[in-house]
Amino acid sequence: MLLITGIVLVPAGLVMLWVAWASRRDRLRPNSAVGVRTRLTMECDLAWFAAQRAAASATAIGGVGALLGGIGAIVMAVVESNRPGFSFPFAMATWTLLALGAAGWSLAWTLTGVGRGSRAAEAVCTEQSGCS
Ligand SMILES: [Zn+2]
Repeated sequence: MLLITGIVLVPAGLVMLWVAWASRRDRLRPNSAVGVRTRLTMECDLAWFAAQRAAASATAIGGVGALLGGIGAIVMAVVESNRPGFSFPFAMATWTLLALGAAGWSLAWTLTGVGRGSRAAEAVCTEQSGCS
């Protein structure tokens, strides 16, 4: 289970870091999969890019957490496979902490990014800027 968790978390973290990098540089175009996707950001390009830029740092922090949690899970899996004396409860406790911790961390920062992004979108998308 530790190995599976690590194998899921590491690519998830790398994807989040890539999204953060692309968001910061206006490289992430409106799409149906990733980014801050609200009614406003999907309707308005100005709001979309402002939202992605505002969300980028939170997405990066979440991605680093997923990546470190994933690497930690893989390391623990290797350690436990080399040390059969490790007790089952201890293994389950480390797995649960790593999985829940890293998943919760990246989810919390993703939601933080969505919050920051949608506020930035509302701020930039006004009648004065010629937006609907
Ligand atoms: Zn707009």
